[in-house]
Amino acid sequence: MRELLNGLYGEGPAVIAGPCSAESEEQVLATAHALADMGIKVLRAGLWKPRTHPGGFEGVGTEGLPWLQRAKHETGMLVATEVATPEHVVAALDAGIDIFWIGARTTANPFAVQQIADALQGHDVPVLVKNPMSPDLELWIGAMQRLGFAGITRLGAIHRGFTPSTEQDEFRNVPHWDIAIELKRRYPTLCILCDPSHMGGRRELVGELSRQALTMGFDGLFVESHCRPEEALSDAAQQLTPAELAHTLAELHPRHGDDAGEELEQLRWRIDECDRELVSLLARRMAVVREIGHYKQRHQVPVVQTSRFNVVLRHAIELARAEGMSEAFITAVMHAIHDEAVRQQV
Ligand code: PEP
Ligand code: MN
Repeated sequence: MRELLNGLYGEGPAVIAGPCSAESEEQVLATAHALADMGIKVLRAGLWKPRTHPGGFEGVGTEGLPWLQRAKHETGMLVATEVATPEHVVAALDAGIDIFWIGARTTANPFAVQQIADALQGHDVPVLVKNPMSPDLELWIGAMQRLGFAGITRLGAIHRGFTPSTEQDEFRNVPHWDIAIELKRRYPTLCILCDPSHMGGRRELVGELSRQALTMGFDGLFVESHCRPEEALSDAAQQLTPAELAHTLAELHPRHGDDAGEELEQLRWRIDECDRELVSLLARRMAVVREIGHYKQRHQVPVVQTSRFNVVLRHAIELARAEGMSEAFITAVMHAIHDEAVRQQV
């Protein structure tokens, strides 16, 4: 797979780009020509759109296959589309689609993946597998294994982030880089692309997420681009015009081949993930603290009770020691947390 994708954007990383959805022949061709002119060699376009709610734009279906064929014929690009059922596979194979991808909602369902794998038996097309919606590496690997057992030899993964636990998250789908890094650690030759469009959910985030992914050693990008994003029938907020995409790609300075730098970046990202979790855990703890504060107010209990803090501290010291951390360190941390807790209760 890596050979297929390498060098697909000049000297840089592989880039697969195109609209979230194929909407009209004119839109597909206008976008494809603009992307081909900037050197992009693979066009993505969804024909069958898995939507969270019924009644949204669910894609043009088989009607769009000839549009992709025409784009391929006129530009020389390879064309890629999402398949979610055996019927999609048959139709896309018949139409000569070059690369297939499996969407996040489908990867989460082993029955659906198995049906797709069965339909692909005997057709060794390249297949890219998006991570499932939930941060479950085994489910992601399992989907690729099903395709591998069906005889697919050119497999790749697309990291598109995971459903956030709260609505306020800055990303549409949280990166959890550690999961993709672990996938790469287990399968060092697997081609892994990053989809910064579905990860960020907003076009302003695409550049920075792409930069981070490439710095961490991803093989390339799978990115949404539409000739008129503001008119897009799906995912309008996250699509870039081809010109904006060209600008974004030109700004990237991947550090390919610099293994030492990559390793350090990966470690730093794991630290950043830990810090995010740490802060969110502290916020959850403070929310409970405030509830206790209200209770104490109602029952006229004083805010600070040293006996209770001593119990909390002893417990934390015990836990920290078992994890190889010093008493002095955890004592300082617990005092800092306690000070803030008192501040939140008064
Ligand atoms: C897509 O790539 O258009 C798509 C539907 O993405 P995902 O499966 O990652 O949500
Ligand atoms: Mn999309």
